[in-house]
Amino acid sequence: MEEGNNQRKVAAVCDGCGTAYAAIEREGGTIQPIGHPNGCCDGAGMTVLSDREIDREIAGEPESKSRERGP
Ligand SMILES: [Zn+2]
Repeated sequence: MEEGNNQRKVAAVCDGCGTAYAAIEREGGTIQPIGHPNGCCDGAGMTVLSDREIDREIAGEPESKSRERGP
């Protein structure tokens, strides 16, 4: 995994519906769910989980292995 200096991989939960995502936290605190460029619920924020929760959430996320990327 290669991440830029100004972003890191996190687990985050949508404030709108409570869905957990593997996400990128960008410089400035913007949370971008991986594979969901438009975010989740419109206008809802994302709450970053703690490091311990990240391990659990990502380990249980099957999509994290396939690393889907758009063309
Ligand atoms: Zn949502």
